[in-house]
Formats: sequence, structure tokens, C-alpha cells
Amino acid sequence: MPLLPAFYRKTVPAKDGASWPHVVIVGGGFAGAHLVLALRDVRVRVTLIDRNVYKTFQPLLYQVATAGLNSGDVTMFLRGLSLHAPNMRFRQGEVTGVDTDEQVVKLSDGGSVRYDHLVLASGATTNYFGTPGAEEFAMPMYTRSQALEIRERIFAELERATQLKEMSFTDRLAISIVGGGPTGVEIAGALADFRISELDVLYPEVDPGTLEISLIQRGDELLKAFEPQHREYAARELEKRGVRLRLGQGVEEVGYDFVRLADGSYVESDITIWAAGVSVSTSVNAWGFPQGRGGRIDVDPTLRVKGFDNVWAAGDIAGGDNPQPQLAQPAVQMGQHVARAIRALVEGDEAAAEKPFKYNDLGAMATIGRRAAIAELPGGVNLQGSIGWLAWLGVHVSKLLGTRNRRSVAANLLYLYNGTGMSRVPNPVVGDVDSFEARRAFRENAPIRRFGYQAGKRFKDPGKPRTRR
Ligand SMILES: Cc1cc2nc3c(=O)[nH]c(=O)nc-3n(C[C@H](O)[C@H](O)[C@H](O)COP(=O)(O)OP(=O)(O)OC[C@H]3O[C@@H](n4cnc5c(N)ncnc54)[C@H](O)[C@@H]3O)c2cc1C
Repeated sequence: MPLLPAFYRKTVPAKDGASWPHVVIVGGGFAGAHLVLALRDVRVRVTLIDRNVYKTFQPLLYQVATAGLNSGDVTMFLRGLSLHAPNMRFRQGEVTGVDTDEQVVKLSDGGSVRYDHLVLASGATTNYFGTPGAEEFAMPMYTRSQALEIRERIFAELERATQLKEMSFTDRLAISIVGGGPTGVEIAGALADFRISELDVLYPEVDPGTLEISLIQRGDELLKAFEPQHREYAARELEKRGVRLRLGQGVEEVGYDFVRLADGSYVESDITIWAAGVSVSTSVNAWGFPQGRGGRIDVDPTLRVKGFDNVWAAGDIAGGDNPQPQLAQPAVQMGQHVARAIRALVEGDEAAAEKPFKYNDLGAMATIGRRAAIAELPGGVNLQGSIGWLAWLGVHVSKLLGTRNRRSVAANLLYLYNGTGMSRVPNPVVGDVDSFEARRAFRENAPIRRFGYQAGKRFKDPGKPRTRR
């Protein structure tokens, strides 16, 4: 790799139709986008295929779901990569198959793209672990549109709660988050902060106790990938913020307004947010590559797909004998590693292309809420509280792609998390809030509700029960 700083690195000009080898990358996420950037000075033509025209920064999706950030703050237009990598072309498409004999990627619109080198970097998706009712009633948070659906649903339910009060009865709004990893902790903390410092201003007619937040975790502790003192700190901070922790209980079933736990108890849950696990999409099974646990594609130590000389996998989709954690940093580093291998092949250095991938662990971070975060950095540096939060902010902002995104996220989060009650005016980002639909769904689903007004009641003309989405 050249030693010059990134902005001095020479790029290769865009040459449509040039006879340079064609690298096709499936998925413009952390692995795919960083792979494109690392190929910018290699004499290859690059085609990046993604079903979306943007890259999503998933670590901040919880801020979109809880109305702290605009959705555009955490997404970046993939075509913008060609500013740095003029040898890249973008093709919007949904990959449905790969013909490795013909070296062709097949798209759902009937199109196809020929490759010399293929990199699979299409990530993972929500895993419901076969929990009955979860797919139908729980809300996943893997994509931008799913985060927006959660946000609109929370505000629709809050509006509905105020209308109930007009009719002189009240109903609790119970939100459950399933999964006590970083995503679950972050979303629970953000909702709790909203309840503490915004709810009473924005919804004066609603008793703050109306909004109940539970975090459900199968294991006995939160954040099991972190040091014990950080797990305890996170649990303490969440409890201080009024989050009800239900630890040591798996979810056995999700219903319209409940989750059933392993001990048979029912927890009221008007909105169930599923943050419990990931697996590779089952649609990848049709691509014809060897797969292992969680559907991850089997790669050798160089990240080549086993049995194929010119196909690699990087990021969450890559498995193999030494699978990496399904996190952003391993994905970025895998994308960069594959770029180095392709560069070596193009430059005729076969031996360099055989170098095994080695993950350089840069630590882990999670935010719990306003001025509370944990950071475990290399060299045994452990940070907590405000200083941990500033480290978390610095790292997240620097990892965003796009100057506009970085500025906007830094400004919004500094304001949101550091203002005091006096200096900060609550101003959540809201979209199309449909409380009419929320009211209709609440009434129509009375027969299958276990909690709240008219629960279990069958009307003469009940209408068709609706699912959440
Ligand atoms: C809510 C949430 C919070 C997270 N928080 C953190 C965190 O704080 N720290 C951390 O390190 N990691 C976090 N992660 C994990 C991290 O986001 C992933 O590990 C990372 O995104 C993996 O990168 P990737 O390139 O493999 O896949 P992705 O970034 O998911 O990118 C895959 C891309 O492929 C595209 N794609 C998928 N299928 C197809 C197809 N068939 N055809 C065309 N395109 C396709 C998708 O549109 C997407 O753009 C979080 C994940 C989630 C969901």
C-alpha cells in the first residue's frame, strides 16, 4: 500500500470500456465501500452493486429510530464514492444469483454483470431465531426504513395515548426491546432520555409513567462482549433512567401487544423492537457458495470463498474457520484486505495475494444515554461516563463517510446530549405520524390484545385484524 496520506494518493481515471480487469462488488456497506476506496489507485474497473443507492451507518440507526438524527445523516449516496474512486461505477440492483462458470452476477430485474473478480459483501440481516410471532409483530432495526418505521410508530402511539386521555381513560404505552447487546442498550437508553427530558414538555397531557421501557435479555447480564465493570455500569445507568431490565429470560413468543417469556409470564409490549441477533439472508443460499453457521459464506484465511480462485467474501457475510465478529471494523478491514489481494493479483504478485487476513482489534464502544458511554480501547484503556461518551462520539463521527454527514451528526449529537434542561429545546425529528391508523389498529386488534382498553373484546364487526406493519 502506498505510504502517502489518503488525499495525496493518485487515483486511476475513469475509463469505460477499458480492458482492465473488472471487479464486481455486491453490497456497498462497510466492507464494500472501503473496498472501493482502497481500489481507487489500482488499474481495475469497479462495479459496485447495491439494492439501495446509499450506504447505511447502522451504529447510529438507533438515533434515527428515537428521533435524534435525520435519516439522511446516517446514510451516504454511494455514487459519491466516485469522487475519490473515479474507476468505480454504481449499479442499483438486487443480486439474486451468481453463475460462476460464466462469471456473471444475476440481478432481479433480469440484468446481469460479468466479472473477473467478485467480492460478496452483502452483509447480514435480522435473525428472529424462529420465535413464534416475532417476524409478524416485532419491529426489526437493520435498515434505514425499519428505523423510520419504529420512529413513526412510537410517535403515532404517543398521539393515540393523548387521544385516549380526551376520552377519559388511559392506557400504558409499553415498549420492549429484545436483546441486551449494544443496539438494545443504546435504543433503551435513548428512549429513557427522551422520557426524562422531552416527554413532559412535548406531551404535557401524558403522565411520564405512561411510557414504560423494558429491556429483555436471555442472559443474566447486558453487553456480554464487554468487561464486567462496564456491564454493571450499563445496567446501573439504565435502571437509573427507569428502564426495566428483564434479564435471564428468553422471549418465547411475540404477540400484538405482548411478549411471552420463558417462565410463561406475559409482558405488556405495544411496540416490540427486535435487536437480538443477525444471520445471513436466506436468499444467499441460492447463490451456490459454501455456507456455514448463520448462513455465513465459508472463506479460507485469505478471504477467498472456498473452492473459488476469483471470488472473495468480506464483512458480516464472511465466515470460515476463524469467523470475525459481525461488526463494522472487521468489515472495513476485510474490505481493505481483499483490495490488497486484488491489487497484488493485478500487479502480478501472486504471493502477496495469498497473505492471510489478520484482524486488528480497535476496541469496542457503546453509549447508554446522555453523558454515559463505555469505551474499551486498545492497550487496556477503559473509559466511562462523559469522557467515554466523547470518545464514542469522536470515533463514530470520524468513521462516517461524507463531510456533510460528519458535520451534521456531530452538531446534532453534541446539542442533543450535552445541552442542559435550560439550554436545550426538545425538538425531535418526526415524519408522517399516523395516529388515526394507530387507533384503528388498536381497536381492530382488540380480540388478540391481552392488555389495555377492550382487550380480548370481540366486536360485531371486528374488521380484519392488522399486523403491525
Ligand atoms: C442497528 C445496528 C447497530 C449496529 N451498531 C454497531 C456498532 O455500534 N459498532 C459496530 O462495529 N457494528 C455495529 N453494527 C454492525 C455493523 O453495522 C455491521 O457489522 C456492518 O454493517 C457489516 O458491514 P458489511 O459491509 O458486511 O454489511 P452492511 O454494512 O450491512 O452492507 C451490506 C450492503 O449490501 C446490500 N445488499 C444486501 N443484499 C443485497 C443484494 N442481494 N443485492 C444487492 N445489495 C445487497 C445492502 O443494501 C447493504 O448496503 C450494528 C448493526 C446494526 C443493524
